[in-house]
Parts: sequence; structure tokens; C-alpha cells
Amino acid sequence: MATAGDISGLNFPSAADLKIEPGVRLQDYTTFRLGGAAGAVLSCHRPETLCAVSRTLAGGSTPWVIIGAGSNLLVADSGFDGVVVRFFGGGSDIRREGNTLVVSGAAALDAVVRCAVELGLEGLVFASGIPGTVGAAVAGNSGAFGGDIGGVLEWADVFFPERGGEPQRMTARDIDLAYRYSRLPADGGIVVRAAFALRPGEREGLAAQRKRILAERSLHQPDIGRTPCAGSFFRNPEGLSAARLIEAAGVRNIRRGGAAVSREHANILVKVDEECRAQDVIELALDIYSAVKRRFGVGLLPEVKLVGDFGDVGIPPAWRSRANGPVCGG
Ligand SMILES: Cc1cc2nc3c(=O)[nH]c(=O)nc-3n(C[C@H](O)[C@H](O)[C@H](O)COP(=O)(O)OP(=O)(O)OC[C@H]3O[C@@H](n4cnc5c(N)ncnc54)[C@H](O)[C@@H]3O)c2cc1C
Repeated sequence: MATAGDISGLNFPSAADLKIEPGVRLQDYTTFRLGGAAGAVLSCHRPETLCAVSRTLAGGSTPWVIIGAGSNLLVADSGFDGVVVRFFGGGSDIRREGNTLVVSGAAALDAVVRCAVELGLEGLVFASGIPGTVGAAVAGNSGAFGGDIGGVLEWADVFFPERGGEPQRMTARDIDLAYRYSRLPADGGIVVRAAFALRPGEREGLAAQRKRILAERSLHQPDIGRTPCAGSFFRNPEGLSAARLIEAAGVRNIRRGGAAVSREHANILVKVDEECRAQDVIELALDIYSAVKRRFGVGLLPEVKLVGDFGDVGIPPAWRSRANGPVCGG
């Protein structure tokens, strides 16, 4: 019997950068190192291949999601009964046009920051050490240390697979960039390329700033090489800090199975041992949500995107909004 993730009836383009892996475990493609198998993972890094693949998928009935480096995802233990399109890699496809850097959505954001620093271009250094791709950073308006993508985005080429046609060149205003938000998940838009408008700066000074930020990160964030996680689990409610709410609600040290709150940061949930399941993480997140809600009446929303079916564990309806990213089933 065909499953939802069955791709045998779909004709994908033959492209040198397209790799098709049926039944692969998503834990290998997320920084949380959690998650069961997908029907198939289709990996590519060329914008043209991404457009062709997503056009094919949009024309079929197989559920599908796009991911980048998987650094902001919690995938269910049962995996995802559909196709995961992984747009990531391809080396440093970075082009300089004056003070603007034009990059593929599949490029690692931190590699772009490193390149900007080496070229003495100012504006992106705030993003030093943010794991993940340019495409996801634009779609989620990634930010840190007082900056965000919206502050430097000149344009993004956005493809709407369900509408077809060609990618559309859109500004930060066109895609409504706000705190960790753009309208792209709700509109079904995927970022294939982006341009960052930077300013001439002083190379040594930028390199020193980058070094300070990376040092600060290593003090206050787990090292994903040793302690898998997906960064901040909850969004900061307007005018408030999710980490402070979690601490004040007295749930700083709680655990569920192999999932715990990071020692370095109250808003980062981590996988502490190999027995940890995605289910432990979602239940820990729900415990924290309930404690904060009880104590302060604030309903935290996840920043991490949930993929797959987590069963009947009482996930609040607001966590399932399509505007939040791909949230499927459960
Ligand atoms: C240790 C650590 C520290 C972090 N620190 C920060 C931080 O300081 N600031 C911050 O903002 N984030 C931070 N993050 C979160 C994460 O790195 C960012 O959200 C990042 O932008 C996710 O990129 P990704 O490629 O890994 O996306 P994924 O996790 O693969 O996907 C995230 C979302 O983006 C969507 N998406 C992926 N690619 C595209 C595309 N091309 N077009 C449209 N949508 C797309 C996916 O559908 C999904 O909804 C941190 C994470 C970790 C693990």
C-alpha cells in the first residue's frame, strides 16, 4: 500500500545536486538529533533545483516540508509521513555587488557573516554563530545581539510553488519581517536567494566584534556538537523574556526522560542522553508552558518548529498556526 510519503509517482528533474533518500531518519538532519524517518528526503542546494523539485511536489498530493540545516526543528519520533526537501549546502555561493552580498538561500548564514567580515563589510556581524541557512534566517527573521535579518535584507527571491511561475523579488517590507516572523510560512513562500545591503567597515574591528559574539555564545549556549538542541525553544512574549519567565516559574531544573532545560540558558531545551525521545522534549516544553501560564497567565509560543505527529499530548492550538512554520499532525 502506498504511504503519504510515497514518491514513486512523481517525476523529479535530473539535477546533479539532487539527492533522493527514501526512508531516512530525520535525526541525522537536525541539531536536536531527534526524529523518526521521513517518506523521503530530497536534498539540493541550487535555487533552480529547489524550484523544480518544489513545483513537482506542489503539483502532487504528497505532504511535504522544506528544511535547511535543521537547527530550529523538533521532529516527532514517528517521523514525517511525507517528503522533506532539504535546501542546504553547496559551499560558499556568495557574490559581491558593491557593498551588497548576494547569496543562495542554501548557504550557511555564518559562512556569509565570515565572508562579510573578511571583506570588511559591516551589518551582518550580529548573526555570528547562528546555525542554519540564509533561507530559513530570512523566513524567520533570525536575530541576535540587537540585530536582525530585516535590518540588512535588500531583497529575497521567493518562490511560491503553489502559484508556479518564477521566483519573485521581495523586500523586507513585502514579506512583513517582524520579531522572528515573516509572512512566508503562511503564504507558502520559500527563499531561494537573498541580498544583504552592507556598509564599508573596518576589517579588524569587525573580526574582534565577531570573536566577542562567538565567545559570548559559547558561555551562554550549549555546544550543539556535545549537547543537541534547537536554540531558544520559546519566543519572547512582547516586552518579556521567556527565559526569565521560566526561571521565575520555578521550572529551571525540571526534566522529562532524557530532556532537560540547558544549564547555560533557561529557554533552551536539550537532549541529555541517547535515550531521549522527541516526546520527552515536547512533554517538557508543555510542562514549562503550563507552569508559566499558571504563574503569570502568559501562554508561551514555540520558536522551534514542530514537524510530524506528537500524539494526544495537549499541544495548545496556537502552537499549530501555519504562520509558525511547518507544524503537521498531532
Ligand atoms: C545553538 C543554537 C543557537 C541559535 N541561536 C539563534 C539566534 O541567536 N537567533 C536566532 O534567530 N535563531 C537562533 N537559533 C535557531 C536557528 O539557528 C535559526 O532559526 C535558523 O534560522 C534556522 O535555520 P535552519 O536552516 O537550520 O532552518 P530549519 O531548522 O531547517 O527550518 C526552520 C524553519 O525555516 C523554514 N525554512 C527552511 N529553509 C527555508 C527556505 N529556504 N525558505 C523558507 N523557509 C525555510 C522551515 O520550513 C522551518 O519552518 C539557534 C539554534 C541553535 C541550535
